Amino acid sequence: MNYENDNIFAKIIRGEIPCDKVYEDDYVLAFKDIRPRAKVHVLVLPKAPYISIDDFGAKASPDELKAFFAAVSKIARDLGVEENGYRVIANHKAYSGQEVDHFHVHILGGEPLGPLLSLTK
Ligand code: 5GP
Repeated sequence: MNYENDNIFAKIIRGEIPCDKVYEDDYVLAFKDIRPRAKVHVLVLPKAPYISIDDFGAKASPDELKAFFAAVSKIARDLGVEENGYRVIANHKAYSGQEVDHFHVHILGGEPLGPLLSLTK
């Protein structure tokens, strides 16, 4: 699978579509999810074109990896969710339900989040 330049997050990074930005640096952009599933729901993504966590983990440079994970914890602290706790989710491909094929993690918090997964079996 190749990276698709016209995915919605690529358009947000290029400034073609607006977002409710909470953080930006040379490597990383973070903004509020348009359909929040918790009181705090922020998406954090590298600006470079990686499809998912699999692609990012395999191909990102040490600088990109460091910048990304340093940004995730800084953003969580700045959002005020570090003290009571938060969850970070990354979806990869069909079984996870990944909707947008530009790597991102979800930071969820601001209230109790319940069990990790709601499985029916
Ligand atoms: P995924 O399932 O790929 O891990 O999550 C994609 C997330 O992107 C979803 O939670 C969805 O609500 C969010 N999303 C989709 N389109 C937009 C958009 O145009 N703007 C913002 N801020 N979030 C979006």
